[in-house]
Amino acid sequence: MRQLLSKRKVYTKLFLFYCFIALVGLISNSLLLALLIFTVALLLWHYHHLFLMDKWLWRDRKLSPPISEGLWGHLFEGIYYLQRRDRRKRRELRNVVRRFRDGAEALPEAVVVLRDDWSIIWCNQLAQILVGLHWPADEGQRLDNLIRHPDFLQYLKAAKFDQPLELTSPVNDALTLEFNIMPYGVEQYLLIVRDITQLKQLEQIRKDFVANVSHELRTPLTVLQGYLEVMDDEHLPDKAMWKKAHNVMLDQTKRMDALVQQLLTLSRIEASARVQFDAEVDVPAMLLQLEQEAQTVNRDKQHTLVFDIDPTLKVTGVTEELRSAFSNLVINAIKYTQEGGYIQVSWQRQHVKAVFSVNDNGPGIAPQHVKRLTERFYRVDEARARNTGGTGLGLAIVKHVLSRHNSRLMIFSEPGKGSSFSFTLPPELVLGNTKKRSRPL
Ligand code: ADP
Repeated sequence: MRQLLSKRKVYTKLFLFYCFIALVGLISNSLLLALLIFTVALLLWHYHHLFLMDKWLWRDRKLSPPISEGLWGHLFEGIYYLQRRDRRKRRELRNVVRRFRDGAEALPEAVVVLRDDWSIIWCNQLAQILVGLHWPADEGQRLDNLIRHPDFLQYLKAAKFDQPLELTSPVNDALTLEFNIMPYGVEQYLLIVRDITQLKQLEQIRKDFVANVSHELRTPLTVLQGYLEVMDDEHLPDKAMWKKAHNVMLDQTKRMDALVQQLLTLSRIEASARVQFDAEVDVPAMLLQLEQEAQTVNRDKQHTLVFDIDPTLKVTGVTEELRSAFSNLVINAIKYTQEGGYIQVSWQRQHVKAVFSVNDNGPGIAPQHVKRLTERFYRVDEARARNTGGTGLGLAIVKHVLSRHNSRLMIFSEPGKGSSFSFTLPPELVLGNTKKRSRPL
């Protein structure tokens, strides 16, 4: 930095100049004229530099100062130094503000900076999507004029911000938002809005799940309780009645057992880690065993069961999960097809993929039900499904298993004609796929 201007030096210089001019004046016998000319020249020199400064500051708007020596050079350099420092400070400040805004933009929440009269200072992009605020258009607008929901106005008025507020988004009815307000800086507030739609949906799914499970268990339990209440030491049923009661109780117990088994399977699949595709699954052997089990289940209904299996087609995956998927689809076809039906199970290679399908000529399913079949506890016909001992979880398990094996359940069905349930396992899971080599030229 330049040294401070020395008053003594400046005045001494001026005094010496005047002495010199006086001497020249005395020699030339015109002292007064010489002093006047020098004073006017000095004044003009100062005015010239004042105009230079005015031009530099107001018209040129250049950063570098006019070239000058001495007193004015010193002043120009001082202003130049202050301007540079000011620019650097402003740049730093801009960087700080930009970093804050970039940080707030990167957050998965809507952020609004407010004054204590609820006027908007700044908001991020997400505030536009979730709450419908626009920056800079809404800068200075009061938030309570833009979000008019009575609960929100009440929340602002009560000023009890230790608890968040849940509201439907003012711009999208499908979104549930959580509003949090906290003091920030000097007489400012920060409004953070979080999209909790998914959280709410999950909570609802959990509640529905608990309600469904309780409902499914309560029905057989009520039946058992009913029988047990009328059977005590004094009122033992006769043999015929006992036989009937025994059969019903056994059925209901089996139903509860099936439900608990399916629930355990589902939770085991959900809890297990990602599938490591390194275990070989001998699907042909698995389907052979399933064919024997299906024949046993089929004894009452006497369907024609045809298994068309490629004996060499093995895959990688989780044996127990795939067994559960194959079994659910085959047993469903037997359960829901009327007596004497025709069921064809196929496991075949299709190019480099493996395709499993179960086709039946059963009652079929109406289109409006098809897309909901894989929902937990969804049944087309509650009464019929209960009679067949269904839990409503079978296809939910199949869907889960298949998504873990990079596949998807396809359902084609025509009421009165039959249904087809199939899925395709991708090439990376199919064993024996030789990589194509390019032929040498
Ligand atoms: P459930 O344990 O009740 O069988 P699923 O999830 O396995 O539950 O099946 C859901 C519903 O899909 C069943 O209640 C039934 O109405 C229908 N469904 C499944 N497979 C067939 C099929 N092959 N033919 C007709 N309807 C079927």
